[in-house]
Amino acid sequence: MKKIALLGSTGSIGRQVLSVVDSYPDKFKITALAANSSFSAFEEQMFRYKPDIATLTDIEAAKKITAIPDVTSFYYGENSILHAATSDADIVFVAVMGFCGLKAVLAAIEAGKDVAIANKETLVAGGELVTSAAKRKGVRIIPVDSEHSAIWQALDFGRIKKFRRLILTASGGAFRDLPLEALDTVTAKEALNHPNWRMGDKITVDCATMTNKAFEVAEAGWLFDAPFDKISVVMHRESIVHSMVEFPDGAVIAQLSSHDMRLPIALALTYPERLESVVPPLGFDGLKLNFGGAPDVKRYPCYKLILDAIKSGKNYPCAASAANEVAVRLFLSGKIKFTGIYNLVAHALDGVKEESLTYESLDVTDKLARKAVYEGFQC
Ligand code: MG
Repeated sequence: MKKIALLGSTGSIGRQVLSVVDSYPDKFKITALAANSSFSAFEEQMFRYKPDIATLTDIEAAKKITAIPDVTSFYYGENSILHAATSDADIVFVAVMGFCGLKAVLAAIEAGKDVAIANKETLVAGGELVTSAAKRKGVRIIPVDSEHSAIWQALDFGRIKKFRRLILTASGGAFRDLPLEALDTVTAKEALNHPNWRMGDKITVDCATMTNKAFEVAEAGWLFDAPFDKISVVMHRESIVHSMVEFPDGAVIAQLSSHDMRLPIALALTYPERLESVVPPLGFDGLKLNFGGAPDVKRYPCYKLILDAIKSGKNYPCAASAANEVAVRLFLSGKIKFTGIYNLVAHALDGVKEESLTYESLDVTDKLARKAVYEGFQC
């Protein structure tokens, strides 16, 4: 039985982790659950999985919890997630959204835990801190994002170190076929209609701007120790080829499967073993796979903006991620246009002051970038 501490249990990925756990009850046990504020779903989960530890970050939400299982120690408040991150588990599965994941990941690593990471903002903002701490403590950082899981599989679960190029595939998101002039007037509801995947709201908007793919370039760099000139992005509408690795001899190995996150989730928990029938088999009859070139920066200006910030390194990626988080929230609540996301992130990046790389300085960068977006929004 693998003991899992699941951070972010009420979100889209968290619920899919629990669905994998439900399908293989003899393989996994949930020993800790952490969520932000979805108290009623969380209370249900506590009684279903009876974890040793359960934590809610939001204090007001925690006050609305009506009952706690006898076997469960319940914590709440800003740092409560650290109880779950450092609890007695074999693996810490990080499915929380945003910068708050970084603190939990660093704590889990310091406690000597392997970490399955589905929170890309953590690696974007703090990739250097996370990977150097993991190396120092001898723990594994296991990819869950479908693209990175594909690369990890092609690299024999990271055992192959020599490659010529990592090739990330990109579906192009909800507006890939929309006339460019129409992007100014699209609604949040339209942005949330991803052609292939059903995911959380924030990441679905990040797919429509392709900010998500810029983040994934950063993730790939940290996870596979790849310089940016060895990472390419190609358009691939169907999201069947999840990503590829090109080897020095010219061979390319791709991983294909239906678009279902349960596959990379299960593999992160059991590799090198593969479970039976995690997702339905891929049908090849009539299957057509299309590939295009690199992302069109006229359609996806955020992609270039964020990728440039990522390539600048230091605290720029952290600022880009924080600014984007707030700008996307403003778009989702109908306060700005879709095209306004770019303007606000660019405004925040203009104001970044270079900082050294510590958790504390990243925390400051994160807060300043959020503030800059609100200021840019109000003026
Ligand atoms: Mg992805």
